[in-house]
Amino acid sequence: MGKETKELLVLEDILGSNKKIASSIRKKLTENGILAINLLSAPGSGKTSLLEKIGQKLKNKHKIGVIEGDIETERDADRIRKAGLPAWQITTHGACHLEAKMLAQIFDQIPADLDFLFIENVGNLVCPASFDLGESLRIVLVSTPEGDDKPKKYPEAFITSQVLVLTKCDLLPYLPFDTDRVIKEALEINPHLKVFKTSATSGEGLDELGAFLEAELKQRRSQHA
Ligand code: MG
Ligand code: ZN
Repeated sequence: MGKETKELLVLEDILGSNKKIASSIRKKLTENGILAINLLSAPGSGKTSLLEKIGQKLKNKHKIGVIEGDIETERDADRIRKAGLPAWQITTHGACHLEAKMLAQIFDQIPADLDFLFIENVGNLVCPASFDLGESLRIVLVSTPEGDDKPKKYPEAFITSQVLVLTKCDLLPYLPFDTDRVIKEALEINPHLKVFKTSATSGEGLDELGAFLEAELKQRRSQHA
């Protein structure tokens, strides 16, 4: 067996066991009526800022929890707690993505009566796309300073997501970012993507995104009931 074949088999094995753990996590979450949302993006795209703002909007009516995935530090979890939301930090100590088994390790700390469980993945547009965490909804974020060429460069993240959130749209007047191009190319990869243009600074698009998430929660609960 060649080295590459061996590596491929190891990867298939990891993904296979990840899938099993993810399925049992999803089953438990769905039984409890929790909508789990996995957020994927490059570092610095504004996942934590979006969560602070969306969390504050939703928390008056809903019970929210946030899992923060980072290579090191508890900084993002601290920010979320300052925003008045419960947060659990998973530090991967070098790993560049979350895996379902990491969630399984902290799963009994997560209250069973949550409405929304947000999972902020490690900032990386590549391998997080391959690891199912047991979520029911996946959101990919692209920030305007990153450039408008991301969908075609990192198609897997867009194929496996149901929602595309453009962030930092308040900066559009100052950047050579072609919003129409990003949306067009993302929809060529995945025509089912629901797209939101947002800014955590100006508040643009946050009501729409919040309303969408509430509608998803309602719909999924009625499906499961
Ligand atoms: Mg963050
Ligand atoms: Zn990785």
